[in-house]
Amino acid sequence: MKKILISACLVGDKTRYDSKSSYTPLIEDLMEKYELVPFCSEVEGGLSIPRLPSEIKGNKVIRNDGKDVTFNYQKGAELAWNICNYLGIRIAILKENSPACGVHKIYDGSFKNRKIDGKGWTTRYLENKGVKCYSEDEIEELLKLG
Ligand code: SF4
Repeated sequence: MKKILISACLVGDKTRYDSKSSYTPLIEDLMEKYELVPFCSEVEGGLSIPRLPSEIKGNKVIRNDGKDVTFNYQKGAELAWNICNYLGIRIAILKENSPACGVHKIYDGSFKNRKIDGKGWTTRYLENKGVKCYSEDEIEELLKLG
């Protein structure tokens, strides 16, 4: 079975900043075709659950109290790639809008709940390494391919 890296919160892990998950029911269909490898960049990068929210601002990731957490996001992105590289994973399904996992949209860095076109820190890193990234809204598309 082909392996896919997937945002841990999408399979039901309560890894989000607010200690909730973003469980997506289509995961059950995916599991019939793929072996899912759950991963949370923010937690693996050393951030706690719960944690204050962060947004990408320019070439940094900033927490809403002003702290620069770019180091943690970079570490999480590198670890995500290490896993993909080690396991031969070339596809990832990542949580839209997240500063780590967003695929098409992220928040704009103002903490005013405004979304812009853009990619999360891990998504950008993985795509530069050749991993094809899909958002949870594109799972049906991926299921048709499989
Ligand atoms: Fe989910 Fe990714 Fe945020 Fe972790 S970093 S909680 S996997 S969106």
